[in-house]
Amino acid sequence: MRLDRFLSEATELTRSQAKRALRQLEVSVDGETVRDASRQVSDTQDVRWQGEPLARVGWRYLMLHKPVGVECSLRPAHYPSVMSLIEIEQIERLHPVGRLDVDTSGLLLISDDGQWTHRVTSPNRACVKRYRGEIAEAMSESVAARVVQQFEKGITLQGEEKPTRPATFERVGPHEVLIGVTEGRYHQVRRMMTAVGYPLTSLHREAIGPLSLDPMLEPGECRHLRPEEIAAF
Ligand code: URA
Repeated sequence: MRLDRFLSEATELTRSQAKRALRQLEVSVDGETVRDASRQVSDTQDVRWQGEPLARVGWRYLMLHKPVGVECSLRPAHYPSVMSLIEIEQIERLHPVGRLDVDTSGLLLISDDGQWTHRVTSPNRACVKRYRGEIAEAMSESVAARVVQQFEKGITLQGEEKPTRPATFERVGPHEVLIGVTEGRYHQVRRMMTAVGYPLTSLHREAIGPLSLDPMLEPGECRHLRPEEIAAF
């Protein structure tokens, strides 16, 4: 979309006022002052007027602190849908960006921008998802060193032929682990931990790529992403 049109849709400026703002060097795109009204901007760019980031027109991007006990499906089978936690206009246009199991808590992104969703979830981009988990049985440091290697090498999950992509593992304490994976196979992290003999008793997603769950969000709360968070993918 042309920059002057973007400005007039994202602010109260008319098209000619937007052009004047550009001439007066009040507009920046990704940190660079721009005066060309015909410059094309995409929905992932950080456009600012008088230093204030402008919301993308049309697309919405949210982060939710998913609690346990809700399903990511839009047509849930057994539990309420995550979408029941969100109050927003035209909610039917939004979709969860990837999934978390009903028993998993943590960072869940929600958007109505299909291209952005694809960028976040595409296996080709190998975006690291970071999880914190708890295990019932204490794990020693020597076992943890072995698990680090198993995760790095890849684990062949039950019923599958292709091993998992290299993943990271860290023992934080006897009952607490950190795991980083770049894929999104069904129940992947739980199955990987079961495969190495330490089933998880809880699982929480802390981050997706460059974006961490906002510590201000209580379970069930959500907020809009900031322009730089949207542009980070
Ligand atoms: N891996 C799992 O096992 N569960 C999730 O919810 C996410 C990753």
